[in-house]
Amino acid sequence: MELKANVPSGPIAQKWSKHRFDMKLVNPANKRKFSVIVVGSGLAGGAGAASLAELGYNVKCFCYQDSPRRAHSIAAQGGINASKNYQNDGDSVWRLFYDTVKGGDYRSREANVHRLAELSVNIIDQCVAQGVPFAREYGGTLANRSFGGALVSRTFYARGQTGQQLLLGAYQALMRQVGAGQVKMFSRHEMLEPILIDGRARGIVARDMVTGKLETHLADAVVLATGGYGNVFYLATYAKGCNGTAIWRAYKKGAAFANPCYTQIHPTCIPVHGDYQSKLTLMSESLRNDGRIWVPKKAGDTRPPHQIPEDERDYYLERKYPTYGNLAPRDISSRAAKQVCDEGRGVGPGGLGVYLDFADSIQRLGAEKIGEKYGNLFEMYERITDEDPYKVPMRIFPASHYTMGGLWVDYNLMSTIPGLLVGGEANFSDHGANRLGASALMQGLADGYFILPYTVGHYLASTKLEKVDESHPEAKAAVALVEGRLKSLLSMKGKRTVTSFHRELGKIMWEHCGMGRNKAGLEQALQKIPALREEFWRNLNVPGSADDLNQSLEMAGRVADFLELGELMCLDALEREESCGGHFREEYQTPDGEALRDDQRFCHVAAWEYAGEGRKPIRNVEPLVFEDVPLQTRSYK
Ligand SMILES: Cc1cc2nc3c(=O)[nH]c(=O)nc-3n(C[C@H](O)[C@H](O)[C@H](O)COP(=O)(O)OP(=O)(O)OC[C@H]3O[C@@H](n4cnc5c(N)ncnc54)[C@H](O)[C@@H]3O)c2cc1C
Repeated sequence: MELKANVPSGPIAQKWSKHRFDMKLVNPANKRKFSVIVVGSGLAGGAGAASLAELGYNVKCFCYQDSPRRAHSIAAQGGINASKNYQNDGDSVWRLFYDTVKGGDYRSREANVHRLAELSVNIIDQCVAQGVPFAREYGGTLANRSFGGALVSRTFYARGQTGQQLLLGAYQALMRQVGAGQVKMFSRHEMLEPILIDGRARGIVARDMVTGKLETHLADAVVLATGGYGNVFYLATYAKGCNGTAIWRAYKKGAAFANPCYTQIHPTCIPVHGDYQSKLTLMSESLRNDGRIWVPKKAGDTRPPHQIPEDERDYYLERKYPTYGNLAPRDISSRAAKQVCDEGRGVGPGGLGVYLDFADSIQRLGAEKIGEKYGNLFEMYERITDEDPYKVPMRIFPASHYTMGGLWVDYNLMSTIPGLLVGGEANFSDHGANRLGASALMQGLADGYFILPYTVGHYLASTKLEKVDESHPEAKAAVALVEGRLKSLLSMKGKRTVTSFHRELGKIMWEHCGMGRNKAGLEQALQKIPALREEFWRNLNVPGSADDLNQSLEMAGRVADFLELGELMCLDALEREESCGGHFREEYQTPDGEALRDDQRFCHVAAWEYAGEGRKPIRNVEPLVFEDVPLQTRSYK
């Protein structure tokens, strides 16, 4: 497989503007002759579908929720980065570019990251124009706060509901186009297979989740903006429905899967509290602006926090990383929390927690001010734990939160299947081995509002496409494949529920491919997962039928894909014999426990190619070159 990144030539700061000029345009009068399928209505898909329709393309947009407005992006709490430098604190496009390359531990493509930093500025303007109610200073200017991995305040926010407000903006734009007849919206439709004709993406097979009907939808190009696959860990901060099915089925049809093992474990989540829990809750990173993280100095100290005097507390992030302190990046903060818990200094039930304490800030700023900034997060925490964070420190622990891996895309966001473009968390594009906080919303909206509208047009203008219809053998074969899979899932009538398989897979992944990974553990996982998958296909029980609403059937299809994707993640983690960002191989660390990269052997993207059922996938490599941010050891000390 050839991985052509198609990065434009020239100085990095001019690549995108040069490329925008070089790309082909579709005559405005011809745009209505083209159709585009967008799978996903979150920030990336919603923004992309609205923008493509606004240009005049005929768009069909799909989501599995009952409304595009319920895409998982709505859950995003803390904020969105942009290098506006409103704070006059030294920010610039270059600094955001630099922070993101460094934050990703030098495993991202420089040109993509620079474009992201450039576009961050436009995103804020676009969203303000839409009426997104960003927080403002007393004088009316937009407010900012800090997020991990940066020494400037560049995060724009709307209380703890930034994703919701941004999504309402994208949703308005989308619904305007639905009203205008330019977008046809298919809610409660799940894409179960891409359709390739003459090697190009030409459509999808989708299941109407209410009637069970399988539908064929064809178009001139297909965009996947289907979010991340972090629910492979079962317990995660994602919405329960998030899954990897769309990208996994595309992978099995020829789209390379890049860096599947790069997953983000977020340091500040409410700890697991029971065996039957079905998901975890994030406490936004923004809380680290004012909260201080600590554990008792002594192992096994079970005194309540207020009885532990100041000099018996270890503010371990402030101690280890004095420059960044509580705002050290997520991978580093998560590992540090694991480390103190492994030393027996964790707090709460099972010792799997650390304190996030607001006492100092409340004393300094007053409870009212803290409430203004984080009120809804404090309320959420209290409802779940029955503890009042204005009075006692929050207890937090790391949890699966984001996937930096995803379908490989070139500079145009084109996958290795021509005509299949990928945006948002579903692609691998910008974050390397660790995503900085508040950069996912930025990337999703950059892809949707500002990149896909150009690159989809460029593809359509430079490609000759035959007319196709549902009777095409490839379309029929894709439907037959889906029918066969649904039938197999329903016909086993075994003894175990889909949830029990998912939970077991999640435990394997967390134990062997979570915050710490090692050769022996990954090899064990690579034995355990195929055995679990074998049992799944023998002993699964899916009640009901395929002819109406059947949530067990929906979940079964997604878990079947997680059982394959989890294996690829472990394989990728095993073959990457270095530590970088969120991928921490315990064998490769510095004497003081930091990630030890091996730039000689692994300064590349690993893009996996499906080789057929039962065959080991092929590991292809896209070398990464760092010309503008020279390779160096990442330090936040
Ligand atoms: C709790 C939480 C808080 C977060 N807070 C922040 C934050 O403050 N700042 C930040 O930058 N990032 C944050 N993130 C990350 C960020 O929210 C996500 O990375 C981002 O919203 C993903 O957007 P997306 O458009 O790529 O995908 P999503 O919003 O996940 O949307 C996916 C879309 O694809 C559709 N879809 C998926 N599969 C199919 C299928 N097979 N068929 C049909 N439709 C399908 C879904 O219905 C949905 O419409 C947070 C994440 C979590 C979990």
